[in-house]
Amino acid sequence: MDDILEVTSLLINEFHGLLSMLTRYIGFGDHEEEYKVIFEIFYQAAHREPLLSTNLHKDARLLGVLQYARKFLDHVSEVIYEHNADIHALAQEMLRRAYMVLAEVPESNPRYVIICDGMSVADAIYIAYRLRKEYKEYMELFITPLINPGGITETYKFILEPHSYFQSTSLTLKDIARKIAEKVHAKDAIVFRGYDETIHRLRNVHATDIVDEMYKLTSRLYSKIIQLKNGFSGVVMVLSDHGYDVIERGMGLYEMKHFWRPHFLSVIASLLIV
Ligand SMILES: [Zn+2]
Repeated sequence: MDDILEVTSLLINEFHGLLSMLTRYIGFGDHEEEYKVIFEIFYQAAHREPLLSTNLHKDARLLGVLQYARKFLDHVSEVIYEHNADIHALAQEMLRRAYMVLAEVPESNPRYVIICDGMSVADAIYIAYRLRKEYKEYMELFITPLINPGGITETYKFILEPHSYFQSTSLTLKDIARKIAEKVHAKDAIVFRGYDETIHRLRNVHATDIVDEMYKLTSRLYSKIIQLKNGFSGVVMVLSDHGYDVIERGMGLYEMKHFWRPHFLSVIASLLIV
């Protein structure tokens, strides 16, 4: 069990480390450019080759972030190989810490739960990054990676609700969102499906088309979060069931996928409380 606590703290610290580095090193004032740099860093960390830009290595600071992101992905695959039996315990520990953070939030701030089908670690980090940049007084409450080695929704359900999974295989993401919402006394549970729909739709396209689409989706999600925060003084718990990967298909064309691959981004299910 000590091991689980240690691994949990290590992964959380690394996630926060990545976010702090990005906050210090990036600042073009152009949201789309910033999103592209973050997307590129995670793509290169997983695939070890450029997607849109070959310029990352020219900026020593961005190169530092890239190396840090690689180290983080190394740790994720180490956890998958060495602690595979503890994946469930690890997820429960991450959730326990998230619930503890939410328990500290004053009752006057309504809680909301948004489960995103297929939001990547790059999208999650971008959202936390942008909140930090745009709201100077704002410090994110909590951000953590949750490991889903299967890289698909079904394995996530199993990790979160192993008992109900065996009772009923028809458990949906909406059910999971509702269960979490109940636990944290949330006002509303929302399922955001845009990512997964896009992942399954984009085949044989240019890399720029993929990044553009994902930027649009992430901006939409960001606006939704801002609306809940500013309009209702809400605290929002944002979860993802798995991430996604961009796979080269030759002739300069790519496709999107989410699947099992220890060193890829699909296996990371992010969790934010903002
Ligand atoms: Zn899917």
